[in-house]
Amino acid sequence: MGIIDGKMVATKIKENIAIEVKSLKKEIGQTPGLAVVLVGDDPASAVYVRSKNKTCANLGFQSFEKILPAHTKESTLLELIDELNKDEKINGILVQLPLPSHISSHKILEAINPNKDVDGFHLENIGRLVTGNAIFKPCTPEGIIQLLDYYKVKIEGENAVILGRSNIVGKPISFLLLERNATVTICHSRTQNLSAITRSADILIAAIGKPNFVTADMIKDEAVIIDVGINRVDNKLIGDVDYQAVLQKASLITPVPGGVGPMTIAMLMANTLQSFKNFYQLN
Ligand code: NDP
Repeated sequence: MGIIDGKMVATKIKENIAIEVKSLKKEIGQTPGLAVVLVGDDPASAVYVRSKNKTCANLGFQSFEKILPAHTKESTLLELIDELNKDEKINGILVQLPLPSHISSHKILEAINPNKDVDGFHLENIGRLVTGNAIFKPCTPEGIIQLLDYYKVKIEGENAVILGRSNIVGKPISFLLLERNATVTICHSRTQNLSAITRSADILIAAIGKPNFVTADMIKDEAVIIDVGINRVDNKLIGDVDYQAVLQKASLITPVPGGVGPMTIAMLMANTLQSFKNFYQLN
């Protein structure tokens, strides 16, 4: 029984990024730039955007905040993306999801230059990910892999079970685990005999958005549990895993908050730095 301290690992990664940014600034006089686009006034999204800007400032990145009203037309947003694509100061473009329903997220994400798609959501980057040639790996899934590596969790040959098949977590983490030679099972809302499958998991990843869904009887002794879920209950953030009970049985587990969440933003910064280095051919 042990806790995977995502906050600590993310802090270390960000410290290394800040050091590299400082030395690149000395070398070429430029720093990476991240544009964050927010449409509407969803309070949770506004919190995410603020925290991304703060992280940019702490790591020496330039940040460009683009906040548009909820009634913004799709064509206006496409024009903005086009400007950001052309702006050489901007290495990463992040469009905060969800977008208002009159705007096609698919159309917007496809308009981002794949070389600036630091979220890794563009079809070209998804194709690269699936074929094992990713430039930018999606942030939450890559954050999970880095946590597993930091804690020296064996992935090759292990049974990895993923709860959830979303495009931003469930599907991409399955490809990253396959790339690392895990045997991967993906479960979703129509899966039958879910507990029997989760009990076979050496590594169980919960990404469904249901508070305390995974209970101790659903896991194998000594399993590694990664809880991606973020659920607000009574003004507190809790994960998809019944943490206190599962902690007693698991070999390692991520808390919520302080597990996967901080890694997502660290990976976003790492991808933006990578994009900057690609632009200046510094690899
Ligand atoms: P989605 O809502 O897009 O997907 C949820 C998935 O869970 C779906 O595939 C759904 O199945 C599946 N599911 C729902 N109910 C069940 C069930 N009873 N049994 C099995 N599977 C079920 O969620 P996201 O992937 O976007 O996010 C998942 C969670 O992770 C959320 O709490 C979100 O807030 C959090 N999150 C955290 C991040 C972080 O940085 N830590 C980043 C991104 C997300 P079906 O496809 O059949 O509907």
